[in-house]
Amino acid sequence: MKILIAAAEMTPFAKTGGLADVAGSLPKDLKNLGHDVRVVIPCYKQITAGEYLTDLPVPMDGHLESAIIRYTAVEARNGDIPVYLVDNHKYFYRDRMYGFNDEFDRFNFFTKASLAMLPYIGFQPDVIHCNDWHAALIPLFLKVKFMEEPFYQKIATVFTIHNLQYQGRFPRGVMKALALDDSFFTPEGLEYYGEVNFMKAGLLYGDVLNTVSKKYAAEIQTPELGEGLDGLLRKRALDLHGILNGLDYDEFNPSKDEKIYVKYDVNSLEKKRENKYRLQKELGLSMGDVPLVGIITRLASQKGLDLMAAVIDQIMGLGIQLVLLGTGEDYYEKLFAEVKMRYPQQTSINLGFDAVLAQKIYAGSDIFLMPSRFEPCGLGQLISLRYGTIPVVRRTGGLEDTIKNYDPETGYGNGFDFVEYVPDKFLDAISRAVNLYRNNPEAWNKLIHLAMSMDFSWNRSAIKYLELYEKAINKRKLTVTRAV
Ligand code: ADP
Repeated sequence: MKILIAAAEMTPFAKTGGLADVAGSLPKDLKNLGHDVRVVIPCYKQITAGEYLTDLPVPMDGHLESAIIRYTAVEARNGDIPVYLVDNHKYFYRDRMYGFNDEFDRFNFFTKASLAMLPYIGFQPDVIHCNDWHAALIPLFLKVKFMEEPFYQKIATVFTIHNLQYQGRFPRGVMKALALDDSFFTPEGLEYYGEVNFMKAGLLYGDVLNTVSKKYAAEIQTPELGEGLDGLLRKRALDLHGILNGLDYDEFNPSKDEKIYVKYDVNSLEKKRENKYRLQKELGLSMGDVPLVGIITRLASQKGLDLMAAVIDQIMGLGIQLVLLGTGEDYYEKLFAEVKMRYPQQTSINLGFDAVLAQKIYAGSDIFLMPSRFEPCGLGQLISLRYGTIPVVRRTGGLEDTIKNYDPETGYGNGFDFVEYVPDKFLDAISRAVNLYRNNPEAWNKLIHLAMSMDFSWNRSAIKYLELYEKAINKRKLTVTRAV
C-alpha cells in the first residue's frame, strides 16, 4: 500500500505533544509490515535536516506562494521512510511552532502544498492519513478542488482526531482565503457558530474517521466531550473508529535508552532505583526511598491540574517528593512556581520542554500522575508502564482503555484510577498508590513486573490502521466507480 501521513509534528523533528510521537512511530511499523509509507510535515525553523528536492507554486488567496519541498528520511528496520518538509519562510520560519494569528494561512498553505507536491515527487498514494485540524483541509481539497484531476481522483483519506478540543476555528473571512464560496459556510458545512472550523473539513470529507482510543471515540459522540461536534460525529458513527496509539518500543526502552542515567530492565530493578537516586540528586531533592511522584505534561486545563492544585497540601502531606516537568498556560506555570516556594525541599518544578529530563523522570519516578479531565489516548501512562513507573490516572478516554485499577484482593491491575473529577477522589487514588508502595513492597514489585511486561507497542495498532486504510480505499473506489 502507498501511504502518505500528513501531520503538523513528528518526532524527531518537531514535537509539542503525543501527535509527534504517533507521526514518528506509526510509519516505522507500517514500513516494517512492508508498505511504502511517507510523511509530510511543515519545515519549522528548528528543523535543520532536509535537502532541496523541488519547489512549486501554491495558489493562495489570489496569488502564488512558492513551496520548497525538502527531503529527509528516518530509519526503520525495513529501510528508510521518506519525510517531506514543506518549507516557506514566511509561514514556518518562526520561533515557535504554533500560536500565531495567521494559523489558517499557514495550514491552508501546508495542506495545499502537501497535495501539490505529489506529482512532482512522483508519488501517488492510495491513501492519505490526515492528522488533526492542521491536515483536515486535505480531504476537502481532494473532493472539492481536485475531483476532476485523474491523478488525485482515487486517493482515499483517513482522518484521525488526536484531540477534539483543538479544532482550528477562524473568522468567517477565512472562507475567501480557502477560495470556497458561501455554499460551504453552513452548519452542515464548515460553519461552526459563525466561524470557519477546519476540523469539520476532516470530519465531513474524510472517507474514514478515527480517534486514538475506543473509549474516546464513544465519548466524543456525547455532548459532554463532543466539543460541539458530537452531532456530526454521531452522524458519522459508522465511519468512526477507535485505535489505541502505540509506543515506539525501540525509542522508549529502558534497556536501551541513552537519555536515562543507568539502563535497566525488569530483571535489574535495582538499577531503576539508581535512576531514582541520581534524579533526586540532579534535582536537588534529598536522596532516599521516599515515594517519588512524577508528572510530565502540557500545562493545560485538559490535564486535571486544577485537581492537583486543590489538594496539593494533602498530597505533599503524604510525605512524597513531587517532580513536575511541563510547559504551557501562564496560570499553571505561576501556580506550580508557587508550589515550589511553599515546598522547596519536597518538589522540583521544571517549567519547560525537555526530552532528556522527561526520560529521566519516567525512569526515576515510582508513581506517575495523569488526572486528566479528558484524554484521547495518553502516552505518558504508556511510557510510565514501560519504565516500571506506576500510573495514577483518571478513568477517561485512553486512560480507561489502558489502565486497570489495582485490586488488593486479587493483585490484578496495572495502576490506580479514580472516576469522578473531584480533588478528593484524586487524592484517594494517590494515597492508595503511596500506601501500597510504602507498606507492601512485594505487591509493589509485582505491579512493576506486570507493568513492564505489558505490550503497548504499535504491533497491533499498526495492523488496525492498515485495515482502516483499506476500508477508506474501498469506499473511495466505490464512490469513484459510481461517479463514472
Ligand atoms: P498530549 O498529546 O495531550 O500532550 P500525551 O500523553 O498523548 O499528551 O503525549 C505527551 C507527550 O509529550 C509524551 O511523550 C510526554 O512525555 C511529552 N511531553 C509533554 N510535556 C513535555 C515536556 N514539558 N517536556 C518533555 N516532554 C513532554
